[in-house]
Amino acid sequence: MSSTKNRIALVTGAARGIGRAIAVALARERWNVIINYRGNAQAAEEARAQVQAAGARGIVIQADVANATDRARLVAQTLETFGRIDLLVNNAGIAPRQRVDILETTEASYDEVMATNLRGPFFLTQLVARKMIEHKIGGAKIVNIGSLSSYASSPNRGEYCISKAGVAMMTTLFADRLSEYGIHVYEIRPGVIETDLTSVVKAKYDKMIAEGIFPIRRWGQPEDVARAVVAIARDALPYSTGEVINVDGGFHLRRL
Ligand code: NAP
Repeated sequence: MSSTKNRIALVTGAARGIGRAIAVALARERWNVIINYRGNAQAAEEARAQVQAAGARGIVIQADVANATDRARLVAQTLETFGRIDLLVNNAGIAPRQRVDILETTEASYDEVMATNLRGPFFLTQLVARKMIEHKIGGAKIVNIGSLSSYASSPNRGEYCISKAGVAMMTTLFADRLSEYGIHVYEIRPGVIETDLTSVVKAKYDKMIAEGIFPIRRWGQPEDVARAVVAIARDALPYSTGEVINVDGGFHLRRL
């Protein structure tokens, strides 16, 4: 079971998909994990059971990262429970409810996606970073889950692309600002990962993968992303900050 000496990770959107895989992989490394989710309590409970089975403590906290009051409560409850945060993983994110051409994008969809994918992580990072500084946590780390959509154009989900381009700059900004405190900031940039998020476009990507769009010809799995987070959590990149790790089957390579 748990040890109070375990380090503490706060993983947003950890109930399902990539976030759950990150939570479980960290638990296997003896990290205690705050499993944040927004609406799916049953999935969060399943994630908690997996974290506990992996030998660490898992605490579930419902909070909408897009909401300032929820963010403050998430951090306060985390600190009440564990007293510190050694690792923040900004993973929670959404696709637009509907894929719509940018000539038709609504302000409501733009605001919803930006609030969840960019404004939320930005201000959560601000809150958590202040605590990391205050608590003088040497070796603290922040990992942002970006996307190949930060540079690859999909005009039928422009608001998502813009949000992830913003996450890329957010990584740069916080890496710059926090390095004097020994807090390193990283972005993991997944390609196409098999989760609920991509289930609606499964047939499209099955075809593209079979035709060779990715040099590594398979779907990415949540565990592929989790392994990159574990490398950072293990302090495998001590002389890097602001670094982007592509977990995309080589999609970002320019090819002729
Ligand atoms: P997913 O399977 O849809 O899971 C999303 C998780 O985030 C769920 O646990 C969900 O909570 C939570 N969440 C959503 N909005 C939230 C909010 N406002 N506050 C708190 N939690 C919230 O998604 P995924 O595929 O694992 O994606 C995770 C991250 O990776 C996202 O940032 C996504 O943009 C990024 N990404 C994914 C892919 C991909 O191909 N899948 C590629 C590149 C980047 P509930 O369970 O309660 O709904």
